[in-house]
Amino acid sequence: MLQNKAYRLRTRPQGTSGHDHFEFVSEPVGKPRSGEVLVKVLYLSLDPTNRIWMSDIPQYMEPVKVGEVMRGLGIGRVESSQSPSLKEGDLVSGLLGWQEYAIVDARTVTKLPDLDVPVEAHMGPVGMTGLTAYFGLLELGQPQAGETVVVSAAAGAVGSIVGQIAKIKGCRVVGLAGSDDKCTWLTKELGFDVAINYKKEDVGAALDKACPKGIDVYFENVGGQILEEVLKRVNLFARIPLCGLISGYNAERPVPGPYQFPQLLMKRVRLQGFIVFDFVQRFPEAVHQLAQWVREGRIKYRSTIVKGLDKAPDALNMLFTGDNTGKLFIEL
Ligand code: NDP
Repeated sequence: MLQNKAYRLRTRPQGTSGHDHFEFVSEPVGKPRSGEVLVKVLYLSLDPTNRIWMSDIPQYMEPVKVGEVMRGLGIGRVESSQSPSLKEGDLVSGLLGWQEYAIVDARTVTKLPDLDVPVEAHMGPVGMTGLTAYFGLLELGQPQAGETVVVSAAAGAVGSIVGQIAKIKGCRVVGLAGSDDKCTWLTKELGFDVAINYKKEDVGAALDKACPKGIDVYFENVGGQILEEVLKRVNLFARIPLCGLISGYNAERPVPGPYQFPQLLMKRVRLQGFIVFDFVQRFPEAVHQLAQWVREGRIKYRSTIVKGLDKAPDALNMLFTGDNTGKLFIEL
């Protein structure tokens, strides 16, 4: 009988998560029932939100229950189908979980569209993180040609796409990232105007130099001290798409601030949180545009690929230490 290996949540972490919080189980693979498909997981996306889902805190979905297979986005191949909408061999994406085989309702997964890009691109620029960049920047940020756009976690999966879309729209683009190598990638390969190594430089002084006309759009991935320095430099009617606050996801206590909150009033800033699924009806349009930019070479991307499901708990922490460049995922 076919065996499945899976990570089930064992306990909820306080602070950084790790192997201790999961149980690695081996159990028989069931059979799909009517309307379901059996999917062999090929790639498993590691996302900062995995850490959020492990905690019993207010969030945009139910937290993963203790004992459940850890939730995770992935791409897999249909092995057998009890649904007329999918057939054996189809590649699908969806919430497949931290496991080798998933049995899911066929309506909850999406057949990968034929976009003439590598499968790897479906994990990043034309996948969920590319869509996050696209809608967050264009719908909430509303960047205008000539404006200054700043993005944090700029060498990550979302941030690297945000900066390139902002360049396509004719903006001056400034990225913040945690190493010189990442900064070089941003300016030399992705076309960012300036990249600031926030771990080495005085962020305030570097922003003053990089943004002589102030900041019109700040794509927020991080929170904390970077947000404080940006808020001191926002222009009248600036826009802040609030995408993520990764600096606080492993915090053991509530994070204080932002201390520069009054700037939202003084500068009439529009700050809006969003979750990429808010735009699900418009995914097809965005995916085609992103894929076109990838094919034209106007959006470039990198992946950090870790091999083996058993590496997932450790690899997740690469997002917090900054050991990934571009999209981080597991190849099973
Ligand atoms: P990334 O690929 O950007 O990886 C995370 C990066 O964040 C790391 O590489 C690291 O880079 C940086 N980072 C980690 N800790 C800190 C810190 N304390 N201060 C500054 N930078 C830090 O991940 P994603 O692109 O998947 O996600 C980026 C953000 O977008 C996250 O906040 C995530 O929660 C959010 N998100 C939101 C979505 C939504 O629908 N709202 C959907 C997808 C993601 P460095 O070396 O530069 O420190």
